[in-house]
Amino acid sequence: MAEVRINRQRCKSCRLCIVWCPKKNLKIDETLNDAGVFPAVVIDAASCTGCGMCFAMCPDSCIEIKID
Ligand code: SF4
Ligand code: SF4
Repeated sequence: MAEVRINRQRCKSCRLCIVWCPKKNLKIDETLNDAGVFPAVVIDAASCTGCGMCFAMCPDSCIEIKID
């Protein structure tokens, strides 16, 4: 099982991870981070395949993927 962790304080809301997720399993959160940005969040953790596309696309290395 894969667990995607997004560093919401570093996310700049560029949405590249959202656009490229083949499962459409990421979205923009409804609450701001400390920088005043709406960060990306995972929609359904169980639906993530661990493909790594979001990790690869994030320009600021905000995403980690843990595979069990
Ligand atoms: S690892 Fe793949 S399926 Fe999971 S959130 Fe990232 S892009 Fe989407
Ligand atoms: S690609 Fe990175 S910086 Fe852009 S929205 Fe996703 S987590 Fe945030």
